[in-house]
Amino acid sequence: MQWKGLIDTHVHLDFGHFDGEREQIIERARNGGVEKVINIGSNLKSSQETVKLIRRYPDYIFGAVGVHPHNARDLNGDMLRKIKELAIEEGIVALGEMGLDFHYDNSPRDDQKRAFRAQLRLARELEKPVVIHSRSAEGETITILREEGIREIGGVMHCFSGNQITAEKALEMGLYLAFGGVITFPKADELRAIAASTPLERLLIETDSPYLTPVPYRGKRNEPLYVGYVAEKLAEIRAESLEEVIEATADNARRLFRI
Ligand SMILES: [Zn+2]
Repeated sequence: MQWKGLIDTHVHLDFGHFDGEREQIIERARNGGVEKVINIGSNLKSSQETVKLIRRYPDYIFGAVGVHPHNARDLNGDMLRKIKELAIEEGIVALGEMGLDFHYDNSPRDDQKRAFRAQLRLARELEKPVVIHSRSAEGETITILREEGIREIGGVMHCFSGNQITAEKALEMGLYLAFGGVITFPKADELRAIAASTPLERLLIETDSPYLTPVPYRGKRNEPLYVGYVAEKLAEIRAESLEEVIEATADNARRLFRI
């Protein structure tokens, strides 16, 4: 596969899944047409690792720092201060990932809500957009986003998995919707319909590597290069050209993250 001009807006290249092969995977992405990637922190350690990756691959890897709802129970004032210090590093373009995950409930829901609000406030203070993770918590996510003034903060609903109503509310609040490998899965008809009806100027693409690998590599470890398959599927379901989808999603990523 050979693409051109792709931006993968959500990867976890710091994860152990890539140990020993990180460099080759980044080379593969670069040679295959992935122009930039955004590495997303999920706790303090992975946020620190994100900063290290950016220093190693300046102008190729950009990053977000934050605490995933799974780890929300760990977020205290000290950690928030450290996240803030990392957030002002060169190449950190967003806060996140943050949000609510009531599917796994790995942290108590009250902790998740508290950590989500605290990070939204930090993003507002630092004038950076946010990367939002929301699973089985659509109503609560929208409520918190509205109460915290997301319109002035800006951001993306990463790996969007909600219904049409949530999509419309998110779009109304000025958010972008990011789609990943799930849109290539046979059972994802409802999600494909949402992806097809999202305005082109609000669409982003991502892999969420190492997870959610698109067809034809479903079941294997995901990597940034495969964002091309997401773009191809989007073009197909939207009846737009591949070039159009790649160019628009890359423009959107540059606008949102100011890269
Ligand atoms: Zn993620």
